[in-house]
Amino acid sequence: MPYVLIINAAVSLIMGVALVLVWRKDRAQTFTRYIGFANLVQLWVPVIYGGMRYNMNAWQTPGGIALSVVAGAYTMLLILGTAQLANRTLSRSVATIIFISIASIDAIAVAWGGIYVAQAAMGTFNTLVGVLCTYWLWKPNATRSPSEKLVGPLLILLGLVQFIFVAYKLDGAEPLAAIGAVLRVALGLVLLNAALDRSTMAAHQMRRRFERLTERSLQGILISLGNRSIVYANPACLAIYGVSSLEELWVATVARTIPVAERATVSNIIAQIETDQISDASYEAERIRADGTHLWLRFHYFPSEWDGAPAVQVLISDETERHKATQALVHQALHDELTGLPNRASMIKSLRTRCVPDQANPSFVLILINLDRFKLFNEAHGPSMGDNVLKAVGSALRQVIPTHCEVMRLAGDEFALISAAHGKGDHAVEMVAAVKQLLGQPFEVAGQEVFVDASLGIALYPNSARDAESLLRAANAAMHAAKLTPGTSYRLAEKAFERGSSNALEQEQSLRVAIENEEIYLVYQPKVDARTGRLTSFEALARWNRPDVGDVSPVDFIAAAERTGLISTLGTALLRRACHQIAAWNKEFGTCVPVAVNVSPLQLLDPRFPNLVAQVLEESGVLPKFLTLEITESSAVQNLAQTVTQVDQLRAMGVHVAMDDFGTGFSSLNMLRSLNLHTVKIDRGLIDPLPLPNAIAVVRAICQLAEALHLHVVAEGVETTEQAEAAQLAGCGELQGYLYAKPLRPEHAAQWMMSMADTRSTNY
Ligand code: C2E
Ligand code: MG
Ligand code: MG
Repeated sequence: MPYVLIINAAVSLIMGVALVLVWRKDRAQTFTRYIGFANLVQLWVPVIYGGMRYNMNAWQTPGGIALSVVAGAYTMLLILGTAQLANRTLSRSVATIIFISIASIDAIAVAWGGIYVAQAAMGTFNTLVGVLCTYWLWKPNATRSPSEKLVGPLLILLGLVQFIFVAYKLDGAEPLAAIGAVLRVALGLVLLNAALDRSTMAAHQMRRRFERLTERSLQGILISLGNRSIVYANPACLAIYGVSSLEELWVATVARTIPVAERATVSNIIAQIETDQISDASYEAERIRADGTHLWLRFHYFPSEWDGAPAVQVLISDETERHKATQALVHQALHDELTGLPNRASMIKSLRTRCVPDQANPSFVLILINLDRFKLFNEAHGPSMGDNVLKAVGSALRQVIPTHCEVMRLAGDEFALISAAHGKGDHAVEMVAAVKQLLGQPFEVAGQEVFVDASLGIALYPNSARDAESLLRAANAAMHAAKLTPGTSYRLAEKAFERGSSNALEQEQSLRVAIENEEIYLVYQPKVDARTGRLTSFEALARWNRPDVGDVSPVDFIAAAERTGLISTLGTALLRRACHQIAAWNKEFGTCVPVAVNVSPLQLLDPRFPNLVAQVLEESGVLPKFLTLEITESSAVQNLAQTVTQVDQLRAMGVHVAMDDFGTGFSSLNMLRSLNLHTVKIDRGLIDPLPLPNAIAVVRAICQLAEALHLHVVAEGVETTEQAEAAQLAGCGELQGYLYAKPLRPEHAAQWMMSMADTRSTNY
């Protein structure tokens, strides 16, 4: 085989491989793949032709078929490639039709007309492909690079040179191979150049597209070469920092506003990304804009490159609004709306943080402050006044308590203080002193002067308890213990108080059983005429001797019954018991004195209460005049209108109603006037200081008022003859107290009744 055929085959091979490799590098350049494969297919033409020429007999038929197949494949690949170059797509079926048609025509031409006719046909087809390509790529509206425009003419030439073989027969084979090889090299170079142009343009377009994306992005984008410099910042990044150039961004903002403490963290992230230790990192921090406003930014770092050097790309989102909203929510969750002080959740959080063993200086003090009688105050003056008092107390506490101590409002009328303790709780002493001094002064609220008392419970960590919940329980129990002392008072946490609280729960449980088993009974305390000292009436007082525990004060178990809703059952049972006792005494002695029964505000405010009283009187056969009901101010304070109606109904039945413990609470004169009462009982607290002159003055004033309102007056808790004389002189008609008798069992009370009956001086 002559060298020229080998060179032709080698050129086809080299150009084919080069074009296919270009496609492998840039898959978008599909035309290089098709034309590359066309070259590789074309490579077989000189090989087959050589075989046919120098080995005529054996190669004639298979060589002819092979040449037809190669011709079909070559033309089909050429058409597919040029169509791609012209941005057209041909379907597989069209490509298959082209292949089959050309291969068949070529085969028929070889069979009927011989190799020269076939060559003429192929030359014609290839020239037409060149013409079609020229038409596509030279269209006036198509913008094509010069190298692309050369493809069509070169293909035409490649088609036309095939006619050399037709014209010169065997002598033309070698010139055809030589010229074909040259043209093929030229076509290959032109296609490579076209592919390069296209790649460059695509890269350029891509860069423009990304530039537009970054320039218009609302997110800040910044590229930094390590910690040394910023090489790119998009407009959003400049806008976030409020600067107009990269220099300003670096000098005026980033370098200055990253706090020193954070610099090491940021440098570390950048170094780790640059050295591929981590693939990305996120970070949120506060920064300061050029105009001084505070920003909350979120940074997302990941590796990038800049001019061939490793770089770090940073995406910056301005999260200031979200951060503010989150902060506001956190603040809201941890603060009390009314006073602006940290709330209960905040206190629990603080306690839990502090109650950690093995801390360097762990001890601290927790003080719970509960305002005394605040509920009544609220009910009397209205909730908005109550709110104002709480606000005033909250801000006054914040002012007097040192700033390093925490001041919180837990709920309602409850506040808390927390302070790191030094020594043996000397902080607690200082704080309690400050609170006491504060509450010693009146609060100016809505133009009024208001005095507030509070009960303080103090717990020390770690002495009182070692975890947040137990510490709080201890302080709470101490605060409740302090409540028992009138006025502002404080108690230090003791285990006994806590036992008291858990006992309360247990007591509530056993109270239920006690009521069912009738363990609660009545004792009767005589009231006597202030002048003659003779029995006028009894007060029925409840007693509970709890099995295995002993006597429980009625103050405790009545309060427990009120808390648990057992009071109506218990109250009804006691009323029934008292009425049956009156009936029994009436039967035994032919007469009786009135018996006063204490009524809880919860009972009185039940609209069915007067009916219940009527029913009990009827079933026990007791006349209403023998029954007095002692009510307290708090029921009237809770609902004056309803109390007035209830009292009116009771009076209409003939039952007497007495106001108990007068002088301790609000002692509202209006209330005294509005209610249709029979008696006022002056509280022991006012009788106790008798015969001090100012105490006499107070009692006398109440008696004068009662006289004006046609009310009887009973002095409670008379223990000495001096008190008795003073009370009588001040105007009290009846006296009750240990001076005359303690509350008595019915059989002992009966002895008093007997002496009454003996003297037969009673009008009852
Ligand atoms: P109260 O109705 O004001 O009862 C008077 C309290 O003073 C009684 O205490 C009585 O024992 C006590 N007392 C009487 N004279 C003297 C005295 O000279 N010196 C001293 N230091 N105390 C005296 P008690 O029995 O412990 O009752 C306390 C409170 O419990 C009563 O106060 C009343 O509010 C309530 N209570 C007692 N029994 C009942 C009841 O059956 N029903 C209701 N709802 N409450 C009751
Ligand atoms: Mg009473
Ligand atoms: Mg009383």
